[in-house]
Parts: sequence; C-alpha cells; structure tokens
Amino acid sequence: MESNARTKAAGVCEDCGKAFAVFESEDGDVIPIGSRDGCPCGGTSFHVL
Ligand SMILES: [Zn+2]
Repeated sequence: MESNARTKAAGVCEDCGKAFAVFESEDGDVIPIGSRDGCPCGGTSFHVL
C-alpha cells in the first residue's frame, strides 16, 4: 500500500492546469495517481505545486 520510492504530492497539468494527486518519483517523474495515462485533456506533463 505504501511506496517507499515515491512521494505523494499535489500537482497540476501543464496544459490545462487541472489539479491531481500525484506521485513524484526519485527520478523527478510526476505521475497522476489513478490516471497513469495522463490528463484527460491529453497532457502528459505535470508539475508539483
Ligand atoms: Zn490537462
């Protein structure tokens, strides 16, 4: 249930600004929780708030 390698954070889509709960990996990847394919708008880039 808990991941040691990823940090849960709040992030937003860089295209439309939609907010997600995200995982931020140690590599700097930001992955939306529950929508790993990306934002419904088609955006795949996110930044952490
Ligand atoms: Zn979006």
